[in-house]
This record gives sequence, C-alpha cells and structure tokens, in this order.
Amino acid sequence: MEKIKNYIGGKLTSTKSRNYLDNFNPSTGKVYSLTPDSNKDDFLLALTAAKKSFISWSKKSKKYRYDVLMNLANELEKNNTKLAIAESVDNGKPLWLTKQMDIPRCAENIRFFATASLHFDSKVHTMDGKAINYTLREPIGVVGCISPWNLPLYLLTWKIAPALAAGNVVIAKPSEITPYTAYLFSKICIKAGVPPGVINIVHGRGAGIGEEIVKHRDVPVISFTGGTETGKKINTLCANNFKKVSLELGGKNPTIIFSDCDFDKAVETSVRSAFLNQGQICLCGSRIFVEKNLYSRFKSAFVKEVKKLVVGNPSSKNTFLGAVVSKDHMEKILYYIDVAKKEGGKVLCGGKQVFLKGKLKGGYYISPTVISGLDYLCRLNQEEVFGPVVSIIPFENEKDVIKMANSTKYGLSASLFTENLSKAHRVSAKINSGVIWVNTWLLRDLRIPFGGMKDSGVGREGGFGSLRFFTEPKNICIKI
Ligand code: NDP
Repeated sequence: MEKIKNYIGGKLTSTKSRNYLDNFNPSTGKVYSLTPDSNKDDFLLALTAAKKSFISWSKKSKKYRYDVLMNLANELEKNNTKLAIAESVDNGKPLWLTKQMDIPRCAENIRFFATASLHFDSKVHTMDGKAINYTLREPIGVVGCISPWNLPLYLLTWKIAPALAAGNVVIAKPSEITPYTAYLFSKICIKAGVPPGVINIVHGRGAGIGEEIVKHRDVPVISFTGGTETGKKINTLCANNFKKVSLELGGKNPTIIFSDCDFDKAVETSVRSAFLNQGQICLCGSRIFVEKNLYSRFKSAFVKEVKKLVVGNPSSKNTFLGAVVSKDHMEKILYYIDVAKKEGGKVLCGGKQVFLKGKLKGGYYISPTVISGLDYLCRLNQEEVFGPVVSIIPFENEKDVIKMANSTKYGLSASLFTENLSKAHRVSAKINSGVIWVNTWLLRDLRIPFGGMKDSGVGREGGFGSLRFFTEPKNICIKI
C-alpha cells in the first residue's frame, strides 16, 4: 500500500510518528493509500525549514518570486491529467469535473497571484504639504494554510499562491480525507525547483497536526477554509496569540426564482448549483425559493431535470454525481434526509443511498434529492448538509423571500433569477451574503472580494485583498 509522504524543507519525508491513517477511494469504499498521521515533531521540522527559508524568500525581488511561481504553474499544468485522475479517485467526484474545474484552477490560481504581486502597490497620504505618509506592505512570516476536502488542490493553491507571492512561506495541511493531490503537488514543487522550505506540506488530523500549526506562536497567520464549528475553534485558538486569521466557512445558500425569470436558464442553473460536485461546494444553492405563481411549474420542471442526472462511476463521461467523500459524510447526509421526512418534508425524488454494481458496490453514492413542504425555519432549511439535497419552498413577494433567505446563521452566497433589473438590484442589496449572483452561479472573477458574512466567515479572499491579508502594513510619517 502506498504511503503518502510529508513535504518538508524541499524533501519528501516519512512521518516521525510512524502512524498512518487509511485513505479511502470513495467510489469503491476501499483503502488505497495511507496518510501520515503527523505529530508535533513533524510540525517542528516543517517550522524550522520554513523559518530558515523565510529569511531568503522574503528578501527576494518580486520578479524572482514571480518566476518561481510561474514555473510551478507550468510544471503543474504538465501534470493536469494525472492530477485530475488522482483528485477524482481521492474525492469521488466525476473525472470530467476535475478536468474542467478543479485542476485547471490550480495553475490559474498560481499565475493569478504571481502576476498580481507585480501590480500590488501601497498608499501615500500627504498632509497639506506639511508631512507625507507612506505605507509599506511587508511579508509576515510563516503562514498556516488549512484546507478542506471538497476542492482539495484548488483551495490549497488558492491559499498558498498569494501567501508566497506576498513573500511569506507556508506550512499547509490538506484534509486527511483527501491528501493525495497535495502529495503529487509536493513532487511537482521539487521538479519545478521551488526553493526548499518555502512550501511545506504536512498531512494528518485536524485535531493533531492541524492544531499544532494553529497554536504555535511562530505561525502568525492562519488561512482556513472549512466548517463553521472548526472555524470557531481555530479562531479561539488564534486569539491566544493575536494571530491574523482568515476564515472561509460554511453556507446554506438561497437560490431565489422570481416569476419573471428566464425559465429555462433558471431551471438549468439551479439544478447545476444544487448538485455540482454532489452538492459539496460551499456555494451550492440548497434552499430554492420560488415565487408562488411559478412554484408548481418550476417544481415539476426542476424535478424532471434532476431525475435525468446520472449517479455513477466517477470516470464515466455520463456521470453527473459521483460518490460523496466518505462513509461518515454519506451517513450524515442520509441522516438529514431522515430529519427532513420527520419534519414533514415530502421527498419528490431521490432520498436514498444508491448501490452500484461490481467494483463500485462499496462506494458512497446518494441520489440527488429534492424535498418540498418544509417550513423555512426547520432544521433542513437552517443547517448545512453539504450534499446532494435541496429543499424547494414557495414565497409570496420580495419582502417574504428576503426574510426567508436571511433567516439562517450563514451568509456566504446567494443566486437570484429575474429579468427585472431594478428588482435584481433591490433584492441583492437586501440579501445578507458575501457573494450574490444574478441569473448565474459560480461565475468567478478572481479579483473580487470572496467570502461570507455572519457564521460563514471572517475576512475576504481574492485579488489584492489576499495580498493585503498576507502582508503587514507599516506606515512611515515624514515631516517636511
Ligand atoms: P472541516 O472544518 O472538518 O475541516 C477543514 C480542515 O480543517 C481540514 O483540513 C481539517 O482536517 C482541519 N481541521 C479540523 N479540525 C481542526 C483543528 N481543530 N485545528 C486545525 N485544523 C483542523 O471541514 P471539511 O473538510 O469537512 O469541509 C467542509 C466544510 O468546508 C463545509 O462546511 C463547507 O461549507 C466549508 N467550505 C467553505 C468554503 C468557503 O470558501 N467558505 C469553501 C469550501 C468548503 P481533517 O480533515 O484532517 O479533519
């Protein structure tokens, strides 16, 4: 059985703990590799390597760092197919999706922030000719990047790239559930000539190696993407050392369908936004609110389209939903379907585990599930399920839907569908979400401030905002 290695000080290293965790292929339910259960010794090795490399990396020119990052992006791109296959096996998601979305975004993330760093500037404030202030933006040090399993390499590179471009060095911890592409990425870093210690990747449990990173005083910045409860814990731990923290957390995103929408576009997009990546994207629309006079027609068309979605082998081109990421996660999703039924919900389609045949018979598959008849305040409409389950709810008018959309503790994203421009502006302004799409979903411009309000996070990622987060401002005032 292949043993995944940590990447520390430019070398692939075995964990000092000698302990390993089983790494499952969700499409078969079988263990196919072993993840290091790294401990404090591994972390301290990574920290020593990172601190040493920071001395030189932080002093290099922007152009030097740009060249290293562009080279890394090019080397990564040469491995796109291999990475796409590996991500699909490790996560259970369809191969066409990793080829189209996950893996191409990795090189794009790196190129985007390498280039942004060349354009990044800081401010000057003059005081009526009496004095001048200029603000430097300096690299901070060792940055801890902790990422989830739903978009494993995509989100890892989204954090690593701006941290490095701004002159910091990184200790990254991928999810223990999906470690494999980060391991391949380590090998790519070596091939691309990334200076030793600039990127360190340590594998293992959140409560183990993850907390070592979060707690240590010499890691002054933490960039975290994951669940809200984990984010709360991390934020509390970071407060002890006054760390700079960015938290990208969970969501319970509304999709709002007005009766004056482009009907076909609204149906097609809301199906995609509900079920892409098995509903395991923080931005997925899991509460679909439909204006009352369109409700019946929309519900029928939506369910008809959902029934066409194929649940199957992740490597097949026809598959829309592959396996969900783990047995525990599958059980959590099935539990929520059960809760919804007990709350009086009517399952319009799906609602069950799917048992495939042959080598896929032990895999974790769930049919895309649409539930109606639930109050907007019930558990299924308030708690994050993070799977292929949506609830469909009628609404009377704008005021009504704004109240329902804003009723959860989350505030990550929302989509609304209307051909009325004034209504689009009016409703968008009243929705409490960090990211709002009108007549589309998941259309991403990497320059925008990305992130959530309320329990969906603290801070924003993207564009120069990321470079500001990963630098320390220092103002110098000169009297003239
Ligand atoms: P988790 O919060 O369980 O884990 C995220 C990462 O944190 C993993 O690497 C995990 O390690 C690690 N971790 C867990 N506990 C600790 C700890 N005490 N200290 C340090 N690190 C820790 O999230 P999931 O991986 O289950 O991801 C799904 C969640 O992520 C959903 O809620 C989803 O909405 C959210 N998400 C948010 C996004 C956004 O941009 N807002 C984007 C994508 C996902 P391990 O896996 O080993 O436990």
